[in-house]
Amino acid sequence: MAVASGKGGTGKTSLAVNLAISIENAQLLDCDVEEPNAHLLLNPKITRQEPVYRLVPSVNEELCDYCGKCAAFCQYNAILAVPGKILVFPELCHGCGGCILTCSKKAIGEGKNGIGIIKEGFADDLRIVFGELEVGEPMAVPLIREVKKRLDKSRNVILDAPPGTSCP
Ligand code: SF4
Ligand code: SF4
Repeated sequence: MAVASGKGGTGKTSLAVNLAISIENAQLLDCDVEEPNAHLLLNPKITRQEPVYRLVPSVNEELCDYCGKCAAFCQYNAILAVPGKILVFPELCHGCGGCILTCSKKAIGEGKNGIGIIKEGFADDLRIVFGELEVGEPMAVPLIREVKKRLDKSRNVILDAPPGTSCP
């Protein structure tokens, strides 16, 4: 079950937490990675935490001839190629990997950009998973995907969704 709303401050987290502690064999996935609050109410014992990265291009300028094909391909303007210089803007990159395929000089590799951290733990028998997005990181969706990947299919699932109706 997912608890969602187009507006913040409507009581999603209170409802999700109360549902989760009212049923047996439950897990709560707090998908509001920009401002996770469920753990503040549950005070879980954290048993595991790991950093999450997303792919960003890393250009080897010794191989690059500044042809500009990668920049022309990128629909998010995350690469700028001008004669003698190439710049990558990680905050604009969606990690599609298209620029890497486009570069015939094999000048682009995969770099990693830290976007946040995932924490897992227990409040009594209730399992909780939540993400904490890096301050200033514009894209919450990749971290939300990582929270959802940690869903334990043997347990009842309550998802506390982020507020709003945009991508997250
Ligand atoms: S496509 Fe490759 S060679 Fe061309 S500008 Fe981009 S990184 Fe450089
Ligand atoms: S990975 Fe995709 S979004 Fe990121 S710079 Fe390359 S083409 Fe643009």
